[in-house]
Amino acid sequence: MSKIEIMDEVLANKIAAGEVVERCMNVVKELVENAIDASSTEIHVDLIDSGIKEIKVTDNGIGMDKEDACLAFSRHATSKLKKIDDLFHIDSLGFRGEALPSIASVSDVTLKTSNGEIGTEIHISGGKILSVENGELRQGTSVLVKDLFYNTPVRLKYLKNLYTELSHISEYIHKMALSYPNIKFVLTNNEKVLLNTDGSNRLLKVIHDIYGLSVTKKMIEIHEENEDYEVFGYISYPEIAKSNKNRITLLVNGRYIKNNEIIRIIADSYHTYLPPDKYPIVILKIEVDPILIDVNVHPTKMDIKFSKMDTLKSLLNETIKKKLEHLTLIPDASLETTVIGQETKISTNYTPKSYEEFDAKKKEAEFQEFEKMTLDFENKKTYEVSENSTDFEKSTGFEKQEREEVRIKKMYPVGLVHGTYIIAENEDGMYIIDQHAANERINYEYYLEQLSNPKKIQVDLLIPISLEFPTEEYVILKQNFYLLEDMGFILEEFGFQTIVIRTIPIWLPKGNEERAIQKIIEIIIDKESFDMKRFVHMVAATVACKASIKANDHIEKKDMEVLLERLSNCQNPFTCPHGRPTIITYSKYDLEKLFKRSM
Ligand code: ZN
Ligand code: ZN
Repeated sequence: MSKIEIMDEVLANKIAAGEVVERCMNVVKELVENAIDASSTEIHVDLIDSGIKEIKVTDNGIGMDKEDACLAFSRHATSKLKKIDDLFHIDSLGFRGEALPSIASVSDVTLKTSNGEIGTEIHISGGKILSVENGELRQGTSVLVKDLFYNTPVRLKYLKNLYTELSHISEYIHKMALSYPNIKFVLTNNEKVLLNTDGSNRLLKVIHDIYGLSVTKKMIEIHEENEDYEVFGYISYPEIAKSNKNRITLLVNGRYIKNNEIIRIIADSYHTYLPPDKYPIVILKIEVDPILIDVNVHPTKMDIKFSKMDTLKSLLNETIKKKLEHLTLIPDASLETTVIGQETKISTNYTPKSYEEFDAKKKEAEFQEFEKMTLDFENKKTYEVSENSTDFEKSTGFEKQEREEVRIKKMYPVGLVHGTYIIAENEDGMYIIDQHAANERINYEYYLEQLSNPKKIQVDLLIPISLEFPTEEYVILKQNFYLLEDMGFILEEFGFQTIVIRTIPIWLPKGNEERAIQKIIEIIIDKESFDMKRFVHMVAATVACKASIKANDHIEKKDMEVLLERLSNCQNPFTCPHGRPTIITYSKYDLEKLFKRSM
């Protein structure tokens, strides 16, 4: 190749680098994916200053001979290195193979590789090969990328944002560790270990290594299939939900993808178990015939389209709802605090302080507790073994809880705190119940039933209610009179922009009729696109709130008994219709631990 051609290539690489190597994460991603393609069983990612200063990816894969190693940095050789991704029937990631030369053009790269027969060490700086020497024979490849972006203006932008960079990288490594539980991933930054999985092919173990023990204990295994799709993995109890969607990990045919529609379907399946702005932790694997998916080829989006979305949607909906319906979902009050503490330690949104304080010893202790937990489950499983009980995940006892028929054991009220929280007990422990939320849940299920029940009992009002509306609202309301009539209201138009209601459905809360009607009409006028299920939910939730005892209502013990009894008969006694908890618990064990009666 002539000198001019080489110069052109350096320039082309730099331009490409601006497009594909936008972040340190992209460099890590490229190197890690190469390592996975090289059949590695162990991949180390070592960063200095979030990767700005140094990124080193070391694997124990098949390695390269000298010729391939040199070609890896040549743009012209990319076709040779490109692979067909048979899982998706597409060329794997768009810029694959072009990334290495691009990375090398904006940094200082040392590649050490060996196929077990020849060891090669190549040093490249600013896109120019400085040396090619014989290297160590240890099989595998290590790529050291130093001073990324050193010769571009991009660098400055990132120096300001070390922790954002780190959070992107660790989020990506988390997803890879979840995608490949059979590969050991070690991630360090400035020599601190951020993730260390064991490659033992136990998904639950990876979940533990990423999210910690308290989250792991609150994961439920799912596994269902229909004609087109097979879905399996773990979903969390609603109580450990997060306000960002990043904890929903989707893997299609083993590949990590992003897909907002599936995230929405999952969130919808937790309907009324979670506030609308909260998301569960989910690791969902979807297996599907590649014919049914269409891959968006943009290399950084990792998005795909499913051609039979409706069957996938109903499969996910039913699977998740069914699981949640069979669980006891009372958040453990003492656990809650552990979860929060955990979060600051291992969250991907590192703050400098908690990151510096990352404590390996805590991890170690936790690991032992995890092993103990799985061991405990092992011991318990003697009487309840599922068919594939040799399976690690099965043996952990996640199947056990769902067999319980009674969702809440009978609780006995002890008293009322602040006129708001009922304290109750039973042989398992102590419970704190929010009386409004509990009552709201009971009423919600009652109104839901009434609203979806076609036979309506109506009552005439002694004094008709008349309501007046501004023009724009009245226009919408008039188009939707049928909704009110379907619910059992009988109404007349009266004069200008006014309706008179003489007859109401019997379930409308007594003494609160006018407020309730106003609320229902507000919902009718408010909604942008109409959805019957949503409408019925909103009416039931709103009327339930109106009809429920408020905070600071000092109710009698008798009423508490009735309330608790009716709560435990609910389909979902654990959350109010807005997704907030109705009840939390301190188990007997928690109490003993808190008072140091047991260690
Ligand atoms: Zn309320
Ligand atoms: Zn509520």
